[in-house]
Amino acid sequence: MGRYAQVATELQDVCDHALRPFESVCLVAVSKTVGSDQVAAAIAQGAGDFGENRPDALMEKQALFPQVRWHFIGNIQSRRIGDIVGRAALIHSLCQLKHAHRIDEVAAGLGIVQDVLIEVNVSGEESKSGVSPREVVDFARQVSELQHVRLRGLMTMAPQGDPQRAREVFEELAYLKELVCAHLSDEVAAEVSELSMGMSGDWREAVFAGATIVRIGRAVFSDESIERFAPRREDER
Ligand SMILES: *Cc1c(COP(=O)(O)O)cnc(C)c1O
Repeated sequence: MGRYAQVATELQDVCDHALRPFESVCLVAVSKTVGSDQVAAAIAQGAGDFGENRPDALMEKQALFPQVRWHFIGNIQSRRIGDIVGRAALIHSLCQLKHAHRIDEVAAGLGIVQDVLIEVNVSGEESKSGVSPREVVDFARQVSELQHVRLRGLMTMAPQGDPQRAREVFEELAYLKELVCAHLSDEVAAEVSELSMGMSGDWREAVFAGATIVRIGRAVFSDESIERFAPRREDER
């Protein structure tokens, strides 16, 4: 079995333990460090969603493999928004209002509605981007007013190496999504259903906390061993 298929099988297992349907979690294979040969290999194993963090790679790989869905997970730069909108099925990393307006403008020009997630800096680490938990409700309200941007949920990155802390960060993001939804109209809130959280080292924790999208790079594409956070017994509720 290939690496992608192994991770997908394990995701199925973890979903079983967490009493969640496998279909409720989308596995995004983060291909930012690999070439098109490895993307093709993952597609052959059933992968249908890929993540990239640079506009150039997104453009190149999306053109080669338009049959799968591409996710933009990197820092957004104003001048590159024209390269991302429309190519990315979902932009995970929106955290500046000026970028939201630019996405709206470009999407309007293309006659499309761009799906986005708001990146939240739950842990407060200075090295991480994202809106602060205090600002997320206001920010979401403003984004939801744009005609050509559709807010679909929230995204975060947890501090590395501490499973307990990662779990807390993921649970807080789930809470923030509920808070955001409570402050939006029912119609808009109905679309805000995604929680993009969990990477190679902590995706199991994220699934237990309600992730609907996990973004996995190294576990799918690299040979290095990944520090694992095995689900603990008390999680098996
Ligand atoms: C690289 C990256 C990932 C994947 O990380 P791995 O540890 O390789 O699984 C997930 N999300 C974002 C935003 C990334 O930049």
